[in-house]
Amino acid sequence: MNRFFTGETPEDGKIRITGSDVNHIKNVLRMQPGDRILVNNGHETEYSGRILEINKEDVLVEITDERPTDTELPVKIYLYQGLPKKDKMELIVQKSVELGAYAIVPVEMKRCVVKLEDAKKEEKKLERWQTIAKSASEQSTRGMIPEVCHAKKYKEAMEEALKAGDVIIPYENAEGITALKNVLASLKEKVKDNKSDEKPVLSVFIGPEGGFDEAEIEYALERGAKTVSLGKRILRTETAGLTTLSIIMYELES
Ligand code: SAM
Repeated sequence: MNRFFTGETPEDGKIRITGSDVNHIKNVLRMQPGDRILVNNGHETEYSGRILEINKEDVLVEITDERPTDTELPVKIYLYQGLPKKDKMELIVQKSVELGAYAIVPVEMKRCVVKLEDAKKEEKKLERWQTIAKSASEQSTRGMIPEVCHAKKYKEAMEEALKAGDVIIPYENAEGITALKNVLASLKEKVKDNKSDEKPVLSVFIGPEGGFDEAEIEYALERGAKTVSLGKRILRTETAGLTTLSIIMYELES
């Protein structure tokens, strides 16, 4: 059954789908009134329903059932990705959404070949990445749509991440997998002991193709971030973030 996100709230047992999905429903999927459909409110609640009306600007759905989704990780994982070359970011956004990332933050680091674009060009890229995040969320039955944030400079990103929770840096020069195992063991403890509605936060920093500059690592270690190894081989930047998310997902969901 087709699934769509909406920012609308239910009224009298009905909910509206708006925006570009209307055209998709009408002209691509050629759905009709009476067809069954799934609508997610983006806050881990999913409604089953039947299409009542297909209008120019919206699709009206009659709700027949509602349930909480259970596809979110018990930790908010922020992926801080060193700006990669070419269109690798599109693959990184799509796969990290499938793997449960809570948000993706492009970061300009010292060895990035790609520098922060002028605002206009960057806005366009951001829109594209957010569209990819939305469709990956629908396809992977996420309970929310991860945000692809505005690109940040390294220090600003690191400060923000350290304030929000634990920070790990998969670092190509780090030794041994034990550090990662220890971080994950303490994260599992945090989840187990968590009595509040707020989920623990873990930020993961991935370097660009050129890797991290020693000064960037120093800056982070001095402030409490931890470097971890992802094993003996050097992974591509687009592989490293997804590997880290896969390991975290495996640990937290097993
Ligand atoms: N230019 C670096 C070099 O030759 O050593 C490689 C950088 S790698 C292509 C890009 C990023 O992926 C690294 O900065 C790091 O964040 C991550 N990464 C790759 N392999 C890793 C490993 N074995 N352990 C930890 N992190 C790794």
